[in-house]
Amino acid sequence: MTTETLVSFAEAMARYEPVIGLETHVELGTRTKMFCGCTTRFGGEPNSQVCPVCLGLPGSLPVCNKSAIEYTIRIGLALNCGIASWCRFARKNYFYPDMPKNFQISQYDEPLCTDGYLDVTVEGKTFRVGIERVHLEEDTGKSLHVGGATGRIHGADYSLVDYNRAGIPLVEIVTKPVTGTGELAPVVAHAYVTELRDLIRSLDVSDVRMEEGSLRCDVNTSLSPKGSAKWGTRTETKNVNSLRSVERSVRFEIERQAAVLDAGARVIQETRHFHEDSATTTSGRSKEEAQDYRYFPEPDLVPVAPSAEWVEQIRAALPEAPSARRVRLQAEWALSDLDMAALRNADALDLVAETVAAGASPADARKWWLGELARRANETGTELAKLPITPVQVARVAELVAKGTLNDRLARDVLDGVLAGEGDPDSVVAARGLAVVSDDSALAAAVDEAIAAHPDVVDSIRAGNTNAVGVLIGAVMKATRRKADAVKVRALIEQRLG
Ligand SMILES: [Zn+2]
Repeated sequence: MTTETLVSFAEAMARYEPVIGLETHVELGTRTKMFCGCTTRFGGEPNSQVCPVCLGLPGSLPVCNKSAIEYTIRIGLALNCGIASWCRFARKNYFYPDMPKNFQISQYDEPLCTDGYLDVTVEGKTFRVGIERVHLEEDTGKSLHVGGATGRIHGADYSLVDYNRAGIPLVEIVTKPVTGTGELAPVVAHAYVTELRDLIRSLDVSDVRMEEGSLRCDVNTSLSPKGSAKWGTRTETKNVNSLRSVERSVRFEIERQAAVLDAGARVIQETRHFHEDSATTTSGRSKEEAQDYRYFPEPDLVPVAPSAEWVEQIRAALPEAPSARRVRLQAEWALSDLDMAALRNADALDLVAETVAAGASPADARKWWLGELARRANETGTELAKLPITPVQVARVAELVAKGTLNDRLARDVLDGVLAGEGDPDSVVAARGLAVVSDDSALAAAVDEAIAAHPDVVDSIRAGNTNAVGVLIGAVMKATRRKADAVKVRALIEQRLG
């Protein structure tokens, strides 16, 4: 790996203007593949989910998956695109082992959805990201390179191919060039992919999990000298596998390309690979031109011609857009922009919404998810949504605290129990004996014992040292195994001592 010369981001931004573009691939969550009946389930034994069609065996014929077309139209409409009334699939010819047919069925000059936009807000500014096209294609298989140190083909002893993924419907969403972002370019790229992910998730057409590869991103970056009317040569950074990496890959390419241009050299139009560990990119293959793919209309498939009625039906059934929903919830929950951003960053918005729907106050729902539960998710390296606790259970814990059955410390023990699989909050309270001691006679007895056991403390309090009450409260809490209501204990002690 060559070490690149870099220019600091601030210096680069002082002299150059970036243009970015994003190509996002989304694996659709249909039950079966794009052109055959094979299952799309993730994680199966390699090559156990294949058939003559997705392996491209001679004589097999593809048939279009109607759900995949519907999902793609749903995405197109949500991105404010026009929907083609008639379009064809095309064969894209290229030769890699992960392409069992030696060509990919894709769309070329007749995409299903065109000319839309998605608004993203960064630091209070709204950028309208133009959508060039949304088209449908089939996914490739997956290569596994064995024997090398890096898992890449270079240095490997041999390669294995898994075709389970081959033929899964894949939507490609291509932006128009995004200009005028200046130094916000990396953050705008991050915000766009985040907004797109949230939008697609709300449409219920994909689980959009970057780490499982159902959302994959290629990031184009170019630089031109400030004030120049001509855009620079762009590079395409492939397979950027996290939201954070989208931002880091743009930043790195800006720093690298600025150094190339400063040295009077030319940026080479090429594919680059992003490395998560070092946040750098390295040169891949030089980019194919469209003519290299020798596209032609797929002769084995009939054209796709969605009727206007069907498209309008799909439009009428679109859910509230995530951006509109955020505005509504922020007002309903009376949150600041910062509070809202924290919820979103923690990926807790839906969890909090469901907890509120289950009866908790917005403040309580936020407190438990962003506090105690976020801490536990963090400690165990789990996503918040994957913790083994439901919003309904969190709402019940909040309710038990509000009713005085639990204090915060006992509530944390209840969460422990629920997370450990001991059942619902009420079962955990019963099984672990966690309810607050609110029985007045039991508390009164514990208070009397504490007073009798600490005559010197009592004298000190009577002499005016009110802080010493803490010692008695502590003794009562210890005697009740911290299950007493501290406010009540203080009141009882003050009552006893006049
Ligand atoms: Zn198949």
